[in-house]
Amino acid sequence: MTYEPVIGVEVHAQLLTRSKMFCGCSTDFGQPPNTQTCPTCLGLPGSLPVANEAAVHMAIRAGLALNCTIRSSNWFARKNYFYPDLPKGYQISQYEEPICEHGWIPLEVHGTTKRVRIRRAHLEEDAGKNIHASAGSGSLVDLNRAGTPLLEIVTEPDLHSADEVDAYLKALRDILRYLNVCDGNMEEGSLRCEPNLSLRPKGETTFGTKVELKNINSFKFVKDAIDYEITRQTQVLNEGGTVHQETRLWDTAKGKTAVMRSKEEAHDYRYFPDPDLMPLHISEGWIEQVREGLEELPQAKLQRFINDYDLPDHDARVLTSSRTLADYYETCVQLGAQPKATSNWVMGELLRELNHAGIGAEDAPVTPERLVELLTLVEDGTISLKAARELFPEFYASGKTAHALIQETGLRQVSDEGPLTEFIQTVIANNPSQVAQYREGKEAVLGYFVGQVMKASGGKANPKKVNDLLKTALLGNE
Ligand code: ADP
Ligand code: MG
Ligand code: ZN
Repeated sequence: MTYEPVIGVEVHAQLLTRSKMFCGCSTDFGQPPNTQTCPTCLGLPGSLPVANEAAVHMAIRAGLALNCTIRSSNWFARKNYFYPDLPKGYQISQYEEPICEHGWIPLEVHGTTKRVRIRRAHLEEDAGKNIHASAGSGSLVDLNRAGTPLLEIVTEPDLHSADEVDAYLKALRDILRYLNVCDGNMEEGSLRCEPNLSLRPKGETTFGTKVELKNINSFKFVKDAIDYEITRQTQVLNEGGTVHQETRLWDTAKGKTAVMRSKEEAHDYRYFPDPDLMPLHISEGWIEQVREGLEELPQAKLQRFINDYDLPDHDARVLTSSRTLADYYETCVQLGAQPKATSNWVMGELLRELNHAGIGAEDAPVTPERLVELLTLVEDGTISLKAARELFPEFYASGKTAHALIQETGLRQVSDEGPLTEFIQTVIANNPSQVAQYREGKEAVLGYFVGQVMKASGGKANPKKVNDLLKTALLGNE
C-alpha cells in the first residue's frame, strides 16, 4: 500500500520585543537566572497582567504579511496545566478568536508554487525553563523566559513531504526576519517547530490519526524527524496496526522519535477567557496604518530583483536571502554600479568574507561606497578583474580605499598605449610564424598573442586594450 503523508505545522516564534508579554520585565537573553522577573511573570497571587502593545503590533504585522485577517476583537484565554516552569498553573494564550486567522503563504517546491493555508496565528506567553542539573542535585527553575511573547502560527494540513515542510519553514522564517519580529534562530529556540503528521492511503480524502513531533531544533532535524516518522507509521499500518494519537519527541542521538505522552485534548486544558485581561480591540485604522507601513517581503523583492536588475533567478535568491544583504546590494546599484557585476562581487567575494566572519551584511567592514569604488576601477580598466579579486581579502580587512591599495600593491593595470605597444612589438618580432598564420586568416592565433603580451607585462596589461592594439599591429606591420 502506498500512503500519502499529511502534515500541518505549529510554529512558535519568539517576538523581538524589549519587554515581556504581560509585564515590564526585560526579555534580554542570557542574564543570571530569575533576575528578570516580577510578581506578574512569577505568577504571584494578586498581580495583574497588562498586554504589551509592541507585541500586538508585531502580531498584526506578521499576520498581514501572512495574508491573514486581523480580528478587530480578540481575547486572551487561560490554558490550564501543571508544570514546574509555569508557576501560575496556566499559560495565557489565545484560543477562540485569535488575533490573526485565515491566511496563506506562497510556497515554491521543486519548481511548482502552491499555497499553504495559515489556520491561525495567536499571541501567547512562553513558560520558564527547567534545568536538570547533575544527577542527585535536583532540578532548577529559571523564570527569566516566563512571559516572553510568542506568536504561534498554525497551518492547515496542507503539506505532504519533508521537503515541503522545510520550504515552508524557511519561507516563514524569512518573512518573520524581514519584518524584524523574530530572529528566526531555530538552534537557540526562538523559532520552534512542531509538525503534526498522519498517513492516508493514496487517493483517500479523510485524514488518518496524527502524531505531533516535538524537540526539533534545526532544519535538518525537521527533515530527519519527518522522514523517520513517515517510515515508522508506514510500517505500523502495513503490519495491520493502528497509529496512536500521541506526542513524540525527536531523539537526535538515536535518530528516532519516541512517545512522550498520549495526546491531550483541548478540553483537558479547560480554556476560559482570562478575567484579568480586557479583550483586545484593534481598529481598522490601526490595521490599515500597519498595512501601509509593511516592508517589501522576500518573495516580492525576489521578483523585483529579477525584473529590475535583470538578474538570474539564482542571484536574486541569494541576494534577497536577507534584508540587509538585499539593501547592501541595492545601495551599490543605486551608487551606479553595474547590476550583474555587483551581484557577482556581493555573492562571491563579499559573502565569502562575511560567512567566514559569521556576520551579516549590516556589519560588513566594506561599505557599499567602498565596494563601488573598487568596481568602478575594474570597469574603467585601472585594475584587472583578476587582480581585484586577489586584492579583495586585504581590501576587506584593511579598511584602505581601493585607490590607495592599488597604488601600494602596484597592481595598477597598464592601459597606456606606449608601454603596451612596446610589449606587442617584441612579441610580434619573436613569433614570425604565428604572425604569418594570423595573416593567412587563422584568427584563433590572436589568443596566443594576447597571452604572450599579458605574460610579458607580468599580468598587468589591460587585456581588452591589448586585444585592440594587437589586431591593428598584426595587420599594420605588413
Ligand atoms: P491539536 O488540537 O491536537 O493541536 P489541531 O486540530 O489544532 O490539533 O491541529 C494542530 C495541527 O495539526 C495543525 O497544523 C493541523 O493542520 C494539523 N493537523 C490536524 N489534523 C491533522 C492530521 N490528521 N494529519 C496531519 N496534520 C493534522
Ligand atoms: Mg497542538
Ligand atoms: Zn515580569
